[in-house]
Amino acid sequence: MEAQPGEAAAGTMSKVAVPVEPKIIVQTTSEVDLLDDGYRWRKYGQKVVKGNPNPRSYYKCTSPGCNARKHIERSSTDHKVVITTYERKHNHGVPGARAGVHGQITDAASEGM
Ligand SMILES: [Zn+2]
Repeated sequence: MEAQPGEAAAGTMSKVAVPVEPKIIVQTTSEVDLLDDGYRWRKYGQKVVKGNPNPRSYYKCTSPGCNARKHIERSSTDHKVVITTYERKHNHGVPGARAGVHGQITDAASEGM
């Protein structure tokens, strides 16, 4: 990694080598922590954050090879507010397309009773 001595150790703590992907922070008023965003998530960790009595839950995408992650915590000031922070992007589309896909509408009314 650090093959070149020289101005590498400048004494600063800042890391600028890796471009940081922008995080997407979404605040939602919801009773459930895990919002249904179409993707499948697996909880892999939980951590108590300073200044917030509510633990933060960590999720990662269950799709193989996908590095997308998010963490969820409730606002310390308003327990109705769920703060979801997305990190990294999915390398795939939304799995398990639900209602709303064109051409898949079944007219149940035509069945009659
Ligand atoms: Zn994914």
